[in-house]
Amino acid sequence: MAGDTEITPGMQRYIDRNNAYLAKRDRYIRDVVKKQRFDTIAVHGLYTMEDALEDYQGSIIEPIFMSTSQAYRDSDEMAAALAYLIPTWCYSRIANPSTYYYEWTLALLEGYGFDGETSCVSTSSGMAAIMTAVQPFLVHTRNDVREPRNFVATAQCYGGTFQQFNVRLAQERAIECRWVVDSTNLDEWASKIDENTRFLYGELPSNPGLGFFDIAAVAALAHEHHLPLIVDATVATPALMRPICHGADIVVHSATKTLTTSGFGVCGAVIARKGLVTNIPNDALKNDFALYTKYLPNRDYGPNLHPMQAILSLNDMRTLRSKVDMMSRSTMKVAQFLQKHPKVESVEYLGLPDHPRHELASKYMWLVDAEYDEQYGKPVNRYGHLMSFCVKGGAGQARVAFDGLQRIWRATDLGRIKSVATIPAISTHQQQGEEGRKLAHIPPNMVRLCVGGEHPDDVIRDLDQALHRVK
Ligand SMILES: *Cc1c(COP(=O)(O)O)cnc(C)c1O
Repeated sequence: MAGDTEITPGMQRYIDRNNAYLAKRDRYIRDVVKKQRFDTIAVHGLYTMEDALEDYQGSIIEPIFMSTSQAYRDSDEMAAALAYLIPTWCYSRIANPSTYYYEWTLALLEGYGFDGETSCVSTSSGMAAIMTAVQPFLVHTRNDVREPRNFVATAQCYGGTFQQFNVRLAQERAIECRWVVDSTNLDEWASKIDENTRFLYGELPSNPGLGFFDIAAVAALAHEHHLPLIVDATVATPALMRPICHGADIVVHSATKTLTTSGFGVCGAVIARKGLVTNIPNDALKNDFALYTKYLPNRDYGPNLHPMQAILSLNDMRTLRSKVDMMSRSTMKVAQFLQKHPKVESVEYLGLPDHPRHELASKYMWLVDAEYDEQYGKPVNRYGHLMSFCVKGGAGQARVAFDGLQRIWRATDLGRIKSVATIPAISTHQQQGEEGRKLAHIPPNMVRLCVGGEHPDDVIRDLDQALHRVK
């Protein structure tokens, strides 16, 4: 990525010093971090006592570097840094020490149990993460602006993703989006791939329809065609599922959601395995996708994360595993209650044994390190905090129940420590119209519910009184 920069002896000294630092960091990751359990990595990431004592006055919390840019000792250091010959941070649109620690924690958590290497680029939102992940595969490779390009994606996806793909890419830029309607059907995926396909994209579990597919099988299919598989794993988080371990190339997160339950702000992340599969002739992209997008396309587009938000989010992720476990168990209890409720037409939750995708989800959604947890002592499935239910009597009655909620917040949000509910047809999935909603299986009387950290009995009590208003 250095281009044709001429290296002076002064620059070389900085390069040598930084190479020594990187070698030490790699050894630390290999010998220390990779041997730690998930919770330890979530708490500490790559922030060491040595970092703290040498550079940050002993601060036990990663510092928030609210600074636009970095100063250099001399012109040699500046020249080396701006040619990307040494990993400094230059300017906060490109990198920043606070986002650095956020990125490393996520790279390590998504790469937990994976024997290759992973890296991460932080983004200002989940939508920016999706844009960051897909755009580099949509470039023209043949010097022909009319070159046909397409990609294949699960129709069951977040409403914003539907808009980005269907409007921004397909309608505005003539990049064909081929929707997979039944993502459990491998033949449907295969039938949509041709020589102009650039990547496969899937969200799982999908928001709110709880779509799911066999990650390993779809990754194998993608790789047969020299394509990467990109997965939106926002709802599961690495505490329950790490798609890269099953063959996916790239994972995107709306870190706004479950990763950061407290809800201070919007943020995103792209985590990729090094040496991913693609038919795009670009070695930098293949070797280290996150670093490539960080240093080049994202430098030029600017969807960077603010350092303040990076540390707020990082601080939230330290307790990820136990929060996801608690919220999953409560959601299960609430789903079982709603299943028996006379005013409820149907309940969708992957944890319910009669859910059509329960078995598939059970293959992939495991509480990380449950076997090392004294409470469990063996692997246990957990299905997350996202569920939905349809209210009897149609859209009008769904709104009656929804408007009756007193403890659960009416908000288009998910993954919060506070329980939230929304009606997707009038909120998150309103823009895509009836046709798009049908494609994504979003009925008008569906209430999406995300159970938070309250005692589940109180969540149930609130739902019960709200449903009693239904005629
Ligand atoms: C919210 C969400 C997004 C978009 O993330 P933002 O942080 O709101 O930009 C993407 N995917 C899923 C599954 C989401 O729930």
